[in-house]
Amino acid sequence: MPSPFEYAPAPESRAIVDLKPSYGLFIDGQFVEGHGTPFKTISPATEEVLSEIAEADQADIDAAVKAARRAYDRVWSRMPGRERAKYLYRIARIIQERSRELAVLESLDNGKPIKESRDVDVPTVAAHFFYYAGWADKLEYAGHGADPQPLGVAAQVIPWNFPLLMLAWKIAPALACGNTVVLKPAETTPLTALLFVEICQQADLPPGVVNIVTGAGATGQALVGHPGVDKVAFTGSTEVGKAIARSVAGTSKRVTLELGGKAANIVFDDAPIDQAVEGIVDGIFFNQGHVCCAGSRLLVQESVVEDVLERLKARMSTLRMGDPLDKNTDIGAINSGEQLKRIRELSEVGDAEGAERWEVACDLPTKGFWFPPTLFTGVSQAHRIAREEIFGPVLSVLTFRTPAEALEKANNTPYGLSAGVWTDKGSLILKMASSLRAGVVWANTFNKFDPTSPFGGYKESGYGREGGRHGLEAYLRTPHESAR
Ligand code: NAP
Ligand code: MG
Repeated sequence: MPSPFEYAPAPESRAIVDLKPSYGLFIDGQFVEGHGTPFKTISPATEEVLSEIAEADQADIDAAVKAARRAYDRVWSRMPGRERAKYLYRIARIIQERSRELAVLESLDNGKPIKESRDVDVPTVAAHFFYYAGWADKLEYAGHGADPQPLGVAAQVIPWNFPLLMLAWKIAPALACGNTVVLKPAETTPLTALLFVEICQQADLPPGVVNIVTGAGATGQALVGHPGVDKVAFTGSTEVGKAIARSVAGTSKRVTLELGGKAANIVFDDAPIDQAVEGIVDGIFFNQGHVCCAGSRLLVQESVVEDVLERLKARMSTLRMGDPLDKNTDIGAINSGEQLKRIRELSEVGDAEGAERWEVACDLPTKGFWFPPTLFTGVSQAHRIAREEIFGPVLSVLTFRTPAEALEKANNTPYGLSAGVWTDKGSLILKMASSLRAGVVWANTFNKFDPTSPFGGYKESGYGREGGRHGLEAYLRTPHESAR
């Protein structure tokens, strides 16, 4: 269906971003050269090289962990919570002040639409720092013991789908609790973490409290395996999460893992269908579907499936795909060639297994990595596209007749990160929410994030919670743990 509106291009200027030709590692309060092999980060929308990034090797990791230890022993763990809070408030305010710059840089490096980086990622990042700044001087009231103590040095490894937001989820609670950190951003999206360094410097954060080491998987592995680390916090794939859990087994390191998902978004026949369609679209096409809690399995009650699919396809046809920096863009670029290959392969498995593919007809740009919003109908629970995380803009549609069947199908997954329920009945919402094995259950909405609300998984989606009062626990000694 042709769109009734034509949109003129409305590109956000990238002049606000001051990209440097190369970046080093941030260790002990300054940028230093890495000893590994530098790599390039590109814009996935155009394949333009944005900058060259240092790779941290084992010796660099060692220097970063030692710097974090010194800062922990001499400064940060001794500082009263109310003083730590001042730094976190300052960081939060500078993030707000520099929000446009952060949003443009995030969209350039990641490929996500500016509308999302500007209105979702960056405001949520600032909110996270504000929220945990508020806890820094009130930790004894958080329900984690009368005199809660930090753990020490935290090794933090994050993925590419929400680069700055995942950094905030890791760094804000760690610092609020009195820990120091060494963080490794993902290989394809290091730039906002490197801009965050400037923000730490602007806030006068003492050297060594935050260290940023760039590199790929091997750098991450060296960081989590370093003997000087007290705590490992990881967000990424279930496969790497399992490897990390094995590598720290038998050590005294504390671990939290935020891993993959295959969330059910469940639509009952009494749901407000137009609102549900918005929630389905938001659930799977937000951030090109690169969302661990994406509603990638749509479960629709059989009596309304035709109606839902018709309206869903009409709505999908209005999604605007293209330049991530255009303020009208709904769907940006796939983050990397590698991820695009994975999405294509799993979608082809869907075809081969007999599911029916429908995709939005649109011209894809010739440069960069693109995949159109896609849905599969005729999907059965045994299909790989119903079981495996595609991590792209691909929705699998299944049906059910009764709430019990919906529940059975929704829980039939090795994952347990999130779920959505759409119905007019409060009692059905409560019944489903209490029986779904998922860390977060949204009712008549989807993909809503708030720093006060804990987020995390069951089963192979990992363990530990980020956000809220619960998120402090991952960075504090339990009352039974003895001091090191
Ligand atoms: P990934 O391959 O697991 O990478 C995540 C991070 O770990 C990256 O920084 C990566 O470096 C690093 N890494 C890779 N191998 C490592 C190793 N052996 N030891 C230590 N670090 C290692 O995941 P991804 O493909 O980038 O991200 C997508 C996945 O993350 C999806 O499965 C998604 O569900 C999950 N995710 C989960 C959440 C959540 O909160 N639960 C949030 C976002 C994403 P490189 O970047 O260089 O590979
Ligand atoms: Mg990039």
